[in-house]
Amino acid sequence: MPKPIVYILDPYHPDAVTALQNNPSIDVVLKNDPRRDNWHADATGLMIRSETRITPTDLAQAKKLKVIVKQGVGVDNIDLSSAKDHGVVVCNTPALNSESVAELTLTLALSIARRISEVDRRVRRGEMVVRSQTLGQSLYQKAIGIIGMGNIGKVVARKWIGAMDGRIVAYDPFAAPDAWTDIPHRRVQALEELLDVSDVVSLHVPLTDSTRSMIGKPQFERMKNNAILLNCARGGIVDEAALTDALTTKKIYGAALDAMDVEPPTIEAYEELLQNQNLIMTPHIGASTMENQIKSGLAVVETLIAVLEG
Ligand code: NAD
Repeated sequence: MPKPIVYILDPYHPDAVTALQNNPSIDVVLKNDPRRDNWHADATGLMIRSETRITPTDLAQAKKLKVIVKQGVGVDNIDLSSAKDHGVVVCNTPALNSESVAELTLTLALSIARRISEVDRRVRRGEMVVRSQTLGQSLYQKAIGIIGMGNIGKVVARKWIGAMDGRIVAYDPFAAPDAWTDIPHRRVQALEELLDVSDVVSLHVPLTDSTRSMIGKPQFERMKNNAILLNCARGGIVDEAALTDALTTKKIYGAALDAMDVEPPTIEAYEELLQNQNLIMTPHIGASTMENQIKSGLAVVETLIAVLEG
């Protein structure tokens, strides 16, 4: 019987690649192999991350495909209903990257609060930064509004309490009524309630019909003037034109995006948004720690082998 062929279409940590190559019953095609472009013809399995999109056309062509494993949480780059129609199993690695994404979330909150990237840019330009004109805000005992209290949202909450002695306001209509008993929090039933009281508003929801553009002009209107918006979830959840407006008119204090409509972000796409000094844009690096890349990459390999071996 021919060996199953697994194509690694996106960058993976070398430890994960080696672990797969060490399995003698699998033929592995690497990301930089010229055969990669012909994966539709003979792939049994795919290892991807967020970069590769798997469309209905891909799935119709890939007659031998049995399984796609995606490193990370969001599977919005895979056409799930088409995968189901073709009997292709789709797996991800939930919860593994929560610590890394939550660490980035807190890093960005503090960086915006203390205007870190703005003053760093000015120092690099040789400017004399007048401290009294560069006051930041302290996040000590401030309230973070967490939209989506799933795996990442809960870790953000714990870290926020530990690091900031802060308060948690949680909005997640899909969570069980008795969720998060181990985390001191105030649960709100309406997004507006969270926006009214939060000093930091942090998004940790998937991109779905119910979350698309969930933060737009009316939501910015409700936020406090010193509010900081963080999106370490997905592009499409924040209306970027409304965000540009909210920052330019100083309706809110600052914002940080690790996920945006155009990825990777370009100067052309974000010329206007990037004019705002108190905006930080990072290119979807939430899960990008050495520790997480090894752990999640090995989990992908383990999952893939388990599915192929039935
Ligand atoms: P999760 O599934 O554990 O949690 C998502 C939570 O959002 C769930 O509790 C769900 O009930 C809630 N939710 C869904 N729709 C909602 C709505 N309309 N309003 C309020 N809450 C809603 O997922 P997770 O592991 O916590 O990840 C959250 C998101 O973070 C992912 O979907 C992914 O898009 C993103 N993510 C980003 C990075 C990055 O590199 N920046 C890395 C990993 C995950």
